[in-house]
Amino acid sequence: MSDSPPVLRGDTERLARLRGFLLDLDGTTYLGDRLLPGADRFVRRLAETGRKRLFITNNCSRTPEEYAAKLARLGLPAVPGDVFTSGELAGRFLLERGLTRVYVLGTPSLVRQLAALGVEHDERSPRAVLSSFDLTLTYERLLKAVRFVQAGLPLYSTHPDLVCPTPDGPIPDSGLITSLIERTTGVKAHYLGKPMVEMVEGAARRLGLDLSELAFVGDRLYTDMRMALDAGITAVLVLSGETTEEMLAESGLRPHVVASDLSALVPLLD
Ligand SMILES: [Mg+2]
Repeated sequence: MSDSPPVLRGDTERLARLRGFLLDLDGTTYLGDRLLPGADRFVRRLAETGRKRLFITNNCSRTPEEYAAKLARLGLPAVPGDVFTSGELAGRFLLERGLTRVYVLGTPSLVRQLAALGVEHDERSPRAVLSSFDLTLTYERLLKAVRFVQAGLPLYSTHPDLVCPTPDGPIPDSGLITSLIERTTGVKAHYLGKPMVEMVEGAARRLGLDLSELAFVGDRLYTDMRMALDAGITAVLVLSGETTEEMLAESGLRPHVVASDLSALVPLLD
């Protein structure tokens, strides 16, 4: 990949007019424990030019505090408020519907994020089931979620991703774990996170910007680019993660800008 010529094409001039950038993490800002090329310079240039930014991730197995600490450790200064996860969106969604006691099939970090918003993990008499990327999954807890859904509770999922990329290869993510419950019970989950446009709307509210002032920069076609195009914001695809030129051509999706990685976008901010 490092031998290929750099890619930068599309309506590149529109980026200079934007006031805020939503940045995907895995495959866009970093991969595993490695910052991707230009991530530090791109974020610094956003700050220098008075633009806002928010890191967006479907992976809510970790808290915004843990993401901010990881970014800082990789050399990219960030605070928890710079990170918006599908867990926060799910928490706010459940809260708005009065669902404050929920059986959570997720990590202790997700349970803490939800509790901070006022949504408690309840093993006895929950009002809904929230399934997620559960790195602490056991058959016993999976079965408990299944029983609650069979008893008639609504099923929500923080995000539909089937697999999560890691340096050692993909691992089962929220969508696959949720599908175990769906296929056992016959109940379809209501998915949150990317590619739901609510994710962009929540981020825009957080930044205090209009959708017309925003871009989403990400590496996945069917979550990042689908959502940006559906929400009507500027869609910027980076080829530093999951997507290849062949996958882009076959997808039929047309992001406004396509770039090798964030380093190619730095000069476009001036
Ligand atoms: Mg990604």
